[in-house]
Amino acid sequence: MKISIKDIRPEGMEVSGHIPAETIGLTRDDPGYFAAPLDVQAKVNRVSDTVLAKTRVQGKYRSVCARCLAEIERDWNGNFLFDFAVDKQTESVELDEDIRQEVLLNLPPRVLCKEDCKGICPHCGVDLNSEPCKCKAGVQ
Ligand SMILES: [Zn+2]
Ligand SMILES: [Zn+2]
Repeated sequence: MKISIKDIRPEGMEVSGHIPAETIGLTRDDPGYFAAPLDVQAKVNRVSDTVLAKTRVQGKYRSVCARCLAEIERDWNGNFLFDFAVDKQTESVELDEDIRQEVLLNLPPRVLCKEDCKGICPHCGVDLNSEPCKCKAGVQ
């Protein structure tokens, strides 16, 4: 998302746009990823030679439950404040790289399908949310 400096009015301006999921750079091989573009809304102000962008980013984060490996999709959002030094030569500022870094820093480290997910028994492999453990039943 590029913001043109000359478009920033004295009272500031609001811009919205999208960031492609590929820009964030996560894939199915990562612990989680975004399957669709992220929504970005920014309130941009210029204070002398600094451009401030108060930014809200929203997306759907897909990952697997850390305990039972069920696939989950959750709304993810973050609020970030960016500042850019500008001078007379600066025509625009680019938000994508800063947003990418903040998104990666603010993803949930570990996601559970539900707070009390019982997970998978490491011995018999049963999903303990839906079946009782076979080990405890004395099968072995
Ligand atoms: Zn689970
Ligand atoms: Zn078991």
